[in-house]
Amino acid sequence: MQNNCIYLDNNATTKVDSEVIEVMLPYLTDYYGNPSSMHTFGGQVGKAVRTAREQLAAILGADESEIVYTSCGTEGDNAAIRAALLAQPEKRHIVTTQVEHPAVLNVCKQLETQGYSVTYLSVNNQGQLDLDELEASLTGNTALVTIMYANNETGTIFPIEQIGLRVKESGAIFHVDAVQAVGKIPLNMKTSTVDMLTLSGHKLHGPKGIGALYIRRGVRFRPFILGGHQERGRRAGTENVPAIIALGKAAELEMLHLEEAIARERKLRDRLEQTLLATIPDCVVNGDVTQRLPNTTNIGFKYIEGEAILLLLNKYGICASSGSACTSGSLEPSHVLRAMGLPYTTLHGSIRFSLCRYTTEAEIDQVIEVMPSIVERLRALSPFKNDEAGWLQGQEQALAHR
Ligand SMILES: *Cc1c(COP(=O)(O)O)cnc(C)c1O
Repeated sequence: MQNNCIYLDNNATTKVDSEVIEVMLPYLTDYYGNPSSMHTFGGQVGKAVRTAREQLAAILGADESEIVYTSCGTEGDNAAIRAALLAQPEKRHIVTTQVEHPAVLNVCKQLETQGYSVTYLSVNNQGQLDLDELEASLTGNTALVTIMYANNETGTIFPIEQIGLRVKESGAIFHVDAVQAVGKIPLNMKTSTVDMLTLSGHKLHGPKGIGALYIRRGVRFRPFILGGHQERGRRAGTENVPAIIALGKAAELEMLHLEEAIARERKLRDRLEQTLLATIPDCVVNGDVTQRLPNTTNIGFKYIEGEAILLLLNKYGICASSGSACTSGSLEPSHVLRAMGLPYTTLHGSIRFSLCRYTTEAEIDQVIEVMPSIVERLRALSPFKNDEAGWLQGQEQALAHR
């Protein structure tokens, strides 16, 4: 097993903070009571869960009663979408975007087979939405608008509050997948137009297998998982206590470090990006560089394959990503970059580096050092360097043979 690497794949998952591990461990060993039990042994666990819920609510500027724990970000997205539709059975239209995470897109696709109509808003070549297109898509039949806060592949941030104002006018419920935003940029539900918001523990230095859905007080909600009375009847099942405790601590630490982390990661990210652009010919940044997560850069290296770059980076112990982890394993280029209408030459050679508060300057230096030779080596092997037409033809042939 390998456990020391230069980890620049933090949008896929993050390292659990050691302080987080420390607070969760006793709930796997000594304090195993059921938080719903009447006895003191269980009750003390219930109290710890309440504290953790307050810690998590604080990072959103929410009330603890507005937090519902889920098993992951994917469950949060599924639950929010189903809840909004169940609460308004008379409405049969959903608005989302072409660049959502599969946890939203695949639910919408299934709903289309069940009589719902779905509008998938387009993005421009910067990955940004057209708010006029959004406004035109909203009707009295629109039950739900579900749009991500920040894109996991490019880091592009959508103007959520501007979108929310338009959604409110239409009377639809507004759900936001904020899995990539929580802990990376400041959020405040007190002054927000968002009705429901999804987050996930393992994207913010908490453990895998825990997430949460924020549900604004007063928003109509119908549970997706039925059973016991946990989570005020909004999500049944005995609480994942150790992970809930851990998520509370992880949220507290993210809040504590937020300002400093934003400044540090942005500086390191910008240095990585600007140096690569300056030292490697024919590469471009994908996505909106003005509205972007401070930890993410997605760079297209023309005429080569992203997967080949990743393999060579891996030899140097550097972890990055091409497209999202959920879609890798197929040679299909990313649906996000495709929606942005990027040319084929950049679509295939795009790499995402995503930093975190543990990323060091020395690690960034290492990447800056090896990348030019990696790209040069691969381009030397590429029969289509500087030949867009030839490249395009090769790609089309490859696709046709699959
Ligand atoms: C990771 C991710 C999810 C899924 O979260 P899980 O906890 O892995 O299920 C959903 N949306 C976005 C934007 C993500 O980055």
